[in-house]
Amino acid sequence: MNNPESTYLTTQLKRICFICKSALVDDAIYCHRCGTKQPPPKLILRSEEQVFELQDASKVWIVGRTIPATGHIVDVDLGEAGGKLGVSRRHAELAFDEQNYQWTLRDASSQYGTFVDDQQVQPEVFIPLQAGQRVRFGGIEFSIELQY
Ligand SMILES: [Zn+2]
Repeated sequence: MNNPESTYLTTQLKRICFICKSALVDDAIYCHRCGTKQPPPKLILRSEEQVFELQDASKVWIVGRTIPATGHIVDVDLGEAGGKLGVSRRHAELAFDEQNYQWTLRDASSQYGTFVDDQQVQPEVFIPLQAGQRVRFGGIEFSIELQY
């Protein structure tokens, strides 16, 4: 009864292989059974007011403020209110790092900075994101979720 492996399995396994349906551990990239590389997780940014779901892991997502009058368009638009809360027009980028199989964040030299768990990140450097972290663009904060 006291088999540590079975305890591990029941508490850790939430994903299944999209090909053979074998159970996968949380952050497995390859299926241990059929060897298939799993599709990238969806990145979800969630606040009380807004939810952004980033499904397409093949593009770079721009976080900032869309300014219709100038044709400046971003993917994650923090809106007019964002300006008052210190969100730059082009504030940060989110991209999936295929090699390391993880979502990453880069501050685009924003005026008021980008923060992960209240720590300001260095501008222009991609850093890995993990589920459960809090990311703040200027004064607008989101929690990070990964959906496999
Ligand atoms: Zn499989």
